Amino acid sequence: MNFTQTISDIISPHEVHQVMHLIDTSHRIVITAHLSPDGDAIGSSLALYHFLQNKGKEVRVIVPNAFPAFLKWMDGATDIDIYEYKPRAGQYHLYNADLIFSIDYNIPKRVGDMAYALGRSKAKKILIDHHPQPGTIFDVTVSYPQVSSCAELMFRLLLQADKYDEITQTIAECIYCGMMTDTGGFTFNSSDPETYAIISLLLRKGIDKDAIYSKVYHNNNEDRFRMLGFMLSERMEIFPEAHAALVWLSKEDQSKYNINKGDSEGFVNYPLHIKNIIFSTFIREDDGMIKLSFRSQKSFPCNEFANDFFGGGGHLSASGGEYHGKIEEAIEIFKRGLKEYEGRLREIEAQK
Ligand code: 5GP
Ligand code: MN
Repeated sequence: MNFTQTISDIISPHEVHQVMHLIDTSHRIVITAHLSPDGDAIGSSLALYHFLQNKGKEVRVIVPNAFPAFLKWMDGATDIDIYEYKPRAGQYHLYNADLIFSIDYNIPKRVGDMAYALGRSKAKKILIDHHPQPGTIFDVTVSYPQVSSCAELMFRLLLQADKYDEITQTIAECIYCGMMTDTGGFTFNSSDPETYAIISLLLRKGIDKDAIYSKVYHNNNEDRFRMLGFMLSERMEIFPEAHAALVWLSKEDQSKYNINKGDSEGFVNYPLHIKNIIFSTFIREDDGMIKLSFRSQKSFPCNEFANDFFGGGGHLSASGGEYHGKIEEAIEIFKRGLKEYEGRLREIEAQK
C-alpha cells in the first residue's frame, strides 16, 4: 500500500528540482532560521540538518539568538550555533558556505545582525518558508503561506523529491515538533486534512507524538509557571468592548522570577482562553527594546495590527513587532490602535 498518495504536490516541480540540484552540487551548507527561534524554526532546521548530514554534507545550523529550553530535546539541538554569542565564527561559516538555507522567515531583516553576512555571502541561497511576501535575495524561493508550518512544507518538499525513504525517525520528530508548535498543538491554523495525512506518515516513522507534546508543553520550571500566574493576576487588562486582552511584563517583573528570554514563549496565548476574547497581545520589555506578540482567533488579521502600529508582521493569527522606547509608551500605542480596530473586532466576533 502506498501511504504517500493522499498528499498533493503543492510545490512547483521546478523548485523541487532546483533545491535538490543545489544540494547535490554543494558541500558546505549553512541552515539559518529567524530571531527568537521557535519550535517551527528549530524543528524545520534540524530536520533539514539531519537529512543533509545523512547525505554526507558538511552542515551547520546557525540561529541569531538563543532558543527556549523546551526545544533542546531534539536531536542535533546542542550542535546549533548561536550567532549572537560567536558572530565571527558565524560570519566565517556564512562566507565559506556554498549553499545557505533560510528557514521559516521571509526577509533578511528577520535574522537581525546576521542579515549583513547573509546578504554578502556568495553562497547560493534557498528560502523555504510560509510567511507572506518573500524577499528577493534568494536564488530559489520555496514560499507557500497557505501551509501552516515550515516543518510541514519541509516534509512536502522531501516527499515531492521522492525522499520519503530518507526521512528517519529523528527527522520525523523534528518535523512533528515544528508542525505541532506552529499550530498550538493543532488548535489553530490546522484544518487542512492533508496535515493529518502527513502526521500519519510521521507516525509510521516511529515518532511518539504524546511524548513530544509532553517534552514541549509539560516542561515548565517552577519560576516560569509562577510568573505566568503573576502575569495573569497582576498584568492583564481586558477590553470587553473590543474582545481583546493585553498582558505585559516589565524587565523588573521578569528578573523577580529569574526569567530568561524565551521563557515567556506562549504566554500570549493564555488570554484567548477567556470567553469572547479573540485578540491577545503580550508586551515584554527586552534588552534595549520592547517585543510585542499578537495572537487572534476567527479571522482577525493581527498581522495588520502589528504592521500598522509597530512596523511588524507575520501571519493572520500569529504576528509580532518591536518598539524602541518605554514599555508604557508601547502600551499606550497599543491602546490607541485598539480603539481604531474596535469596530472591526466587534464585527468579527459577532460573525458565526
Ligand atoms: P512570536 O509572537 O511567536 O514572537 O511571533 C509570531 C510570528 O510573528 C512569527 O512567526 C513571525 O512570523 C512574526 N513576527 C514576530 N516578530 C516579528 C517582527 O518583529 N517583525 C515581523 N515582521 N514579524 C514578526
Ligand atoms: Mn513557522
